[in-house]
Amino acid sequence: MKPSTRLTQHLAGLENFGHSIRRPVYLFRPTRVEQVAELLELANKEEVLVGLRGAGRSYGDAALTGGGIVLDFGRMNRILDWNPETGVITVEPGVTIEQLWRHILEDGWWSPVMPGTMFPTIGGCLGANVHGKNNWKAGTMGEHVLSFNALLPNGEEVTCTPTENEELFHSIISGMGLLGVFTSITMQMKKVYSGNLDVNAWAEPNMKRMLAATDANKEEDYIVGWVDSTTRLGLGRGQMHSARYLAEGEDANPAQTLNPNSQDLPDTIMGLVPKSMVWRFLQLGLNNPGAWAGNLAKYFLNRTVGNNKQYIQSLVAFTFLLDYVPNWERAYGKGGLIQYQSFMPFDSAEETFTRILRHSQQRGLPSYLGVMKRHRPDHFLFSHAVDGFSLALDFKVPPRKQARLVKMLGELNQIVLEGNGRFYFAKDSALTPDVVRAFLGEETVKKFQALKARVDPQQLLQTDLYRRCFIGPNGL
Ligand SMILES: Cc1cc2nc3c(=O)[nH]c(=O)nc-3n(C[C@H](O)[C@H](O)[C@H](O)COP(=O)(O)OP(=O)(O)OC[C@H]3O[C@@H](n4cnc5c(N)ncnc54)[C@H](O)[C@@H]3O)c2cc1C
Repeated sequence: MKPSTRLTQHLAGLENFGHSIRRPVYLFRPTRVEQVAELLELANKEEVLVGLRGAGRSYGDAALTGGGIVLDFGRMNRILDWNPETGVITVEPGVTIEQLWRHILEDGWWSPVMPGTMFPTIGGCLGANVHGKNNWKAGTMGEHVLSFNALLPNGEEVTCTPTENEELFHSIISGMGLLGVFTSITMQMKKVYSGNLDVNAWAEPNMKRMLAATDANKEEDYIVGWVDSTTRLGLGRGQMHSARYLAEGEDANPAQTLNPNSQDLPDTIMGLVPKSMVWRFLQLGLNNPGAWAGNLAKYFLNRTVGNNKQYIQSLVAFTFLLDYVPNWERAYGKGGLIQYQSFMPFDSAEETFTRILRHSQQRGLPSYLGVMKRHRPDHFLFSHAVDGFSLALDFKVPPRKQARLVKMLGELNQIVLEGNGRFYFAKDSALTPDVVRAFLGEETVKKFQALKARVDPQQLLQTDLYRRCFIGPNGL
């Protein structure tokens, strides 16, 4: 069927966050729920697929639907209700994490779960069911949702809470925009008594010690480890950061630190280089020798002047460290980057992460940045978390080595499955239907298929990730 001008007027090229994929789509930016319903009907009539998109901050193809309609929720971004007494907030799905903290912090509240960047939307974060550097303690963002309204592709509007429409509640959250559209979301925020955190930083010499440190500091509120994924000596070494909220009365001037303006990240790095230029300098070091030297220098600085340091840092600076360098992902060059995050149970984490790092080094395609976190399992449909650890690795995609990288990521998938690990769709570019079936399990896949047939009988909601992971050449 030939697309009508209603569609072709909206033709646009859209990329993923990692800039490794570009697709032609019909891009619509609705402002009201009725428009979303109309667009779903239009898609049905014109026989095109629909993908949902928040801020497009998923690394891979989770928010792309090549050749289809993409509904971008960036303009459905109103804060509908905020109660500073109870910390309960109701938002439209396109409200960003940045809008959220700027709105609530002054009243002494913070989101209990935050991803590592403030640019995503709440709808997108719940689509993936994001975790923070406190996943083992606070769970995923979905665990703090009190209720949401959603529009189903079959035209039904539903209200879901942990007890009402319970199955849809636990499936649309984490469902990667494949089962329904969040139209409003109500969440419980966390009380804070300061805009600052008490942070500790120290270096660890190898993977075993990094994992042990990540586990041993569970009484802290946040833990995260930077891993040098380029070194062969002291494989898996890195630097740990743990942080603790300040208790009531600990901050001498909470009115000041809770003021959103005091949280703003500085405009220059080290008072000299404008932030907007930094990614261009980074570009020079993002090759194998440059990344090796950069990681080595960072480790030795952490080991010496930066070791065993305790300091006060703002919530924003600690939580959204990557946002210090705008467009940092562009430093990866033309081919972009892929992130590969695997989640390993406690007992197999050391062996699996060690194998992953060795394998990528042996293949000549080391990751240039590694991040380790501690997790706990959850009850959502496409859960990525385990009682254990994750290691997120950023890989450059050099255009000439793309096929080699894809092959290597396929090999890493097998290593992760051998250790009973899991994967995270928000970060994924390398899963195939057989791997998805293996990590999600037969029961979950069947449950998803049954739900999809019920709420989306026309199979309208499809993303490139869905087609790659659930249909693929052989299908599920
Ligand atoms: C620098 C960086 C750091 C990150 N750190 C973390 C981290 O610490 N922890 C973590 O868990 N993730 C992290 N992420 C991943 C990111 O938080 C998730 O990919 C998140 O889903 C992005 O939100 P978004 O608004 O950009 O959504 P998109 O990427 O646009 O969409 C994500 C998914 O949600 C679906 N969706 C979007 N809107 C709706 C809607 N209204 N209704 C239903 N479904 C919808 C989409 O179809 C898609 O499947 C990070 C990403 C970056 C770039």
